[in-house]
Amino acid sequence: MSEPNAPGSACTCGECFEGWLSPRMRERLEYSAELRYGLAKALLDTQDGVPDDITNTLPIDYAQIDIAFYYLPPALRAKISTSPPETQSDADASSSTGDAIYRGYIAAFQVALELATSPGEGAKHRSFPTVSYIAKRLSELRPDSSTPSNSEPEPALDATAREHLAAFLDAGGSAQYALDCIVDRAREELSPLGRLYDAEKEYIDAVLDGSDGEPRGACANDLDFARVREKLGLPAETRGVDVPLDDGDHLDPLSDEE
Ligand SMILES: [Zn+2]
Repeated sequence: MSEPNAPGSACTCGECFEGWLSPRMRERLEYSAELRYGLAKALLDTQDGVPDDITNTLPIDYAQIDIAFYYLPPALRAKISTSPPETQSDADASSSTGDAIYRGYIAAFQVALELATSPGEGAKHRSFPTVSYIAKRLSELRPDSSTPSNSEPEPALDATAREHLAAFLDAGGSAQYALDCIVDRAREELSPLGRLYDAEKEYIDAVLDGSDGEPRGACANDLDFARVREKLGLPAETRGVDVPLDDGDHLDPLSDEE
């Protein structure tokens, strides 16, 4: 066993980034980001393949299909939600704005994932993107950004995605919500602490060995999500407390409270 690589570190593997982010935890977080973005991207691609006249009569309810929705504050959920509009023209306006905000939220996941997987920080002893780091990149990716960022590898957002990102940020969106979702879903779905872990356990254990197939050693930090949240700049409590555990039962009308 190596000596701790940071003062006060609980690391028992000697491999943790700055003594707190273990290789297994990092795999969980990266895989969680992949899952969230991959799912949302697949849903949006499907929707984009549907003819316009069908999407107009059956607007997609993102609250029903993507649990990432539940990591947003109520005010932002209400802007995305395709709740019953008063007139048809309101329907067009609100659903298109809500759609752009949701797509901008998903663009934030894409940026987080690309930052997490970008090479150059060293293959093994890597950190994970923090709230402030992702927020900085999101701000740079706005179409109206005055900050040139061509000195660093750029997440590949096209012009439309950057417009959506701006809509998300202007509506009160933040990198924090996407990262909260990534970390909390990693806990719920990819760790033994989660309620959704058992069914996929075998799958998860394979994932934790890493994409290179090299086993990741166990560490006392492997399940310390509280420490990870603190280090990544997240609040101690997740917003994802309303995530439905099954279909339908918890999809109550949204409150206006913040
Ligand atoms: Zn360790």
